[in-house]
Amino acid sequence: MAKKQFKAESKRLLDLMIHSIYTHHEIFLRELISNASDAIDKLYFKSLTDHSISLSREDFKIHLSLDKENRTLTLSDNGIGMTQEELENNLGVIAKSGSLAFKKENDMQDDVDIIGQFGVGFYAAFMVSSEVKVVSRAYGSDDAYCWISSGVDGYTIEPCRKDSVGTDVILKIKENTEEENFDEFLEQYRIQGIVKKYSDYIRYPIQMEMERSKLKEGTGKDGVDPEYETYTETETLNSMVPIWKKSKEEVSEEDYNNFYKEKFFDFEDPLKVIHSKTEGAATYNALLFIPAKAPFNYYTKDFEKGLQLYSNGVLITDKCADLLPDYFSFVKGLVDSEDLSLNISREMLQHDRQLKVIAKSIEKKIKNELAKLMKSDREAYNKFFENFGLQLKYGVYSNYGMNKEQLQDLLLFHSSSENKLVSLAEYVSRMKEEQKYIYYATGESVARIEHLPQAELVKDKGFEILYLTDDIDEFAIQMMREYQEKQFKSISAGDLDLETEEEKEEIKKQEEENKDLFAAMKEALGDKVSKVRLSQRLKSHPVCLTSEGGLSLEMEKVLNAMPT
Ligand code: ADP
Ligand code: MG
Repeated sequence: MAKKQFKAESKRLLDLMIHSIYTHHEIFLRELISNASDAIDKLYFKSLTDHSISLSREDFKIHLSLDKENRTLTLSDNGIGMTQEELENNLGVIAKSGSLAFKKENDMQDDVDIIGQFGVGFYAAFMVSSEVKVVSRAYGSDDAYCWISSGVDGYTIEPCRKDSVGTDVILKIKENTEEENFDEFLEQYRIQGIVKKYSDYIRYPIQMEMERSKLKEGTGKDGVDPEYETYTETETLNSMVPIWKKSKEEVSEEDYNNFYKEKFFDFEDPLKVIHSKTEGAATYNALLFIPAKAPFNYYTKDFEKGLQLYSNGVLITDKCADLLPDYFSFVKGLVDSEDLSLNISREMLQHDRQLKVIAKSIEKKIKNELAKLMKSDREAYNKFFENFGLQLKYGVYSNYGMNKEQLQDLLLFHSSSENKLVSLAEYVSRMKEEQKYIYYATGESVARIEHLPQAELVKDKGFEILYLTDDIDEFAIQMMREYQEKQFKSISAGDLDLETEEEKEEIKKQEEENKDLFAAMKEALGDKVSKVRLSQRLKSHPVCLTSEGGLSLEMEKVLNAMPT
């Protein structure tokens, strides 16, 4: 039979498909499996109305087989198949999607989930194959046809034999080159891995003959040397129903924990699981986890934030950074959305607008869940804060305090009166009637701050002090400026405003009287201080150092230590 040529544009397009569109070769399998799943969906959809189809949902499957000797990987499905004409139109014309047309022609129901739309995924097979053979028999037909192509130079279609309805795609895997390894696509464990990675939630079983070995009977004991024999076993590679699509009642805590540990490589159960289905401006399912501990590289440049992004159960990106603000970068998990418009490689989205809407909604969700956790399980929240609180404080500081509304309620600080971590809301609720400010003190450790001479007077008034021990703390507080209309005030700031009017008068008077003494002291200390003056803030200590203006002594220290 004469070889048919791909249309001229198609040739260029095919060349593009093979060489430039995809970042990873392994994606070919995702595309072929998606097509098989679509084909099954179509037949299943038909069976809903056409009762002469005696197939039920359980009968459908996708089968993979490897033949190392002949270098072939075969994907078989018992879906709707293709007629001669359809082979010609759908595989001979690039960028023609039979699936998209099917979706448009039929009023699709909820339990069908056609993936195809661009009409290009199939050609990804040529990235790894020197020849692709498609043997297909359409539903309702007794004839089968075989489509063969080795890439840009066209294809042939010939009648052939096939006993059952459906499609076999037989890939002749390329030989290794110096730069590229193709042999890997003939390894069962590699194939298994790719299926797990991209197609774990395809709703039909993806099965493969797995070769295994076992100890031969009667060997390996009683002094007989062990001998092994190989046998094959059909294994279903995919989990099919995504845990996040199940309802919460169906999933146990253990299921969530196991899923988290397996998928996100943690040894410990997560501190908190957030499972939600959202509809509205953005429709998506999310399954998010807050780890119990910060990963070892969390506070380094090497840490990469991001959530997995799925479109209809098919993995699109492994680490979508845009889904998380930096201050929630510790969150792990995934988002699955049906209404993402993907770009042609299905590795990215066409618009980041959709992503932004989802990201905003997720951010709100995480914030609310953390706030809830703070209320319902303070111990767990404290643990969370020990691990990730620093990141929240950086969040308040960065972006010129724009994030403060989001984050201020989530912050905790040590407190002078409570001897534990307290929130700003708790502080404010305990404020004395005559107390104007939220007082804070900075220092290396709680113990050090407790000994600050300035702390005494404030504590004496019965006012609580927040003890700030992280370098970032005071920067964050300066960014917030106030909380519930109460300004923050450092206890080492010049003017603490603790005195009554009469006391202020008194200080002024005494300062006048001792002018000469202060002048002499200033002269003796020279440049080390900018001013010597009387203080009302001392009780048992004779002197203290304070700073004036916006910066506290601690901040000055931090700033001085920074490289310039
Ligand atoms: P898409 O899946 O985006 O439509 P593809 O290039 O992956 O594009 O496939 C092109 C078309 O070929 C599909 O729309 C479908 O009509 C047909 N097709 C591909 N694989 C199969 C299959 N296994 N069974 C039936 N039809 C298939
Ligand atoms: Mg496809």
